Amino acid sequence: MAPWKLSWKHLYDEVVTSGLCTGCAGCVIACPHDVLGYEDADGVYKPFQTESDYGGPGDCSHGDKACTMCTRACPRFRDWEPAIDESMFGRTRTPDEVAGISKDILLARASDPALHEVGQDGGLVSALLVYALENDVIDAALVSYLEGDGSTWKAIPGIARTRDDVMRSAGSRYTYSANTLAYMDLDKEDQRIALVGMSCQSSVPPAMRERKAGKAGRRLSLNIGLLCSKTFDDSIFEELLEAKYDLPRNVIKKVNIKGRLQIWTHDDRYVEVPLKECHPFTREGCTMCPDFAAEHADISTGGIGAFDDWTLTIVRTDTGRELVEKLETDDWIETRPGDDDPGAIELMRRLATKQRKRWPDTAVAAPALIPVTGS
Ligand SMILES: Cc1cc2nc3c(=O)[nH]c(=O)nc-3n(C[C@H](O)[C@H](O)[C@H](O)COP(=O)(O)OP(=O)(O)OC[C@H]3O[C@@H](n4cnc5c(N)ncnc54)[C@H](O)[C@@H]3O)c2cc1C
Ligand code: SF4
Ligand code: SF4
Repeated sequence: MAPWKLSWKHLYDEVVTSGLCTGCAGCVIACPHDVLGYEDADGVYKPFQTESDYGGPGDCSHGDKACTMCTRACPRFRDWEPAIDESMFGRTRTPDEVAGISKDILLARASDPALHEVGQDGGLVSALLVYALENDVIDAALVSYLEGDGSTWKAIPGIARTRDDVMRSAGSRYTYSANTLAYMDLDKEDQRIALVGMSCQSSVPPAMRERKAGKAGRRLSLNIGLLCSKTFDDSIFEELLEAKYDLPRNVIKKVNIKGRLQIWTHDDRYVEVPLKECHPFTREGCTMCPDFAAEHADISTGGIGAFDDWTLTIVRTDTGRELVEKLETDDWIETRPGDDDPGAIELMRRLATKQRKRWPDTAVAAPALIPVTGS
């Protein structure tokens, strides 16, 4: 293989400013010189170069001296998808595997009523994390919290180390949280780390391993993905929910998306917002994202399907299968076959097919792959 000589200037031109950048922050945590910052205000979720006294925003003094870590870590750079498929599964996907390569598809939910209750769907993700923390599988997990007392509904990355932490972080927020960034706050002793993240983030650890982008790829040893078609810009709160539905941020108790945006309030109201009213608030970083099904996670999880309180669970790797089997054996989760809800699997394939069409013709061809048969 030719030596990898691609640095920040290539990433800046081909991903950061081309529309492909999802804001996953893989490049930021990979940078060994700490010169990449991360902008997360005013709807911008992007990396930037902090060396203001060196050239322009596309220049990096370390890149000019042959540092290539940021391009190696980026899961949208050049042929990221076939390269990661090949290194994770030993082959690239067939056109029919539009939602990625997997071993098992099942429905799962936490047996512990408290974990089930706080979970967005079946509480599977929370059960996996608590089990892994309490049974010496991981030292810490990178998750998302609401800032402060939750009344601003600003989703922020953070670290979970205990059952309480996991329960505080449970549920879904539909604005962006670059959970990957919490990597920067880990302790040296944290060597086995779970990443929970949307599809874009779940391609970070395998991209880092495949392209040898430093030790984070090895430390991120458990990768739990969330199916995802988009996140919303934070302005949706004021410009739609407050302006049209009289729902200021601080009255919102819980949100969900099931064919429409559902909102429960602290004063016992329930409001439904048609998704077509939400679409104009799609975050810029999602508009070219081809990955609905968190195709490079160990375990991908979603809420689509007929059963609201179960998590649709796609097991992709041996690591994922081993962990799910342990939770089943120890009665931490209940499972049923994915075939109990064929409509959910069909819908996942349809949504994955649709999302792949977002990948632009101007970029490398592979992620545009759509199935020859089926949906
Ligand atoms: C932005 C977003 C969009 C989604 N879109 C879809 C979709 O289109 N179709 C579908 O089937 N499923 C979607 N999901 C996944 C679904 O909402 C559930 O997260 C999933 O089914 C797991 O449910 P659970 O009960 O097992 O998880 P839980 O036990 O509730 O755990 C959820 C985990 O997600 C983390 N999390 C919550 N919000 C965010 C965020 N904004 N960013 C990063 N991490 C977060 C939490 O910290 C927690 O660790 C989406 C999730 C998110 C966050
Ligand atoms: S997609 Fe992620 S890794 Fe790539 S440039 Fe954007 S933030 Fe960095
Ligand atoms: S659609 Fe979801 S997975 Fe894709 S960039 Fe947006 S947040 Fe990330």
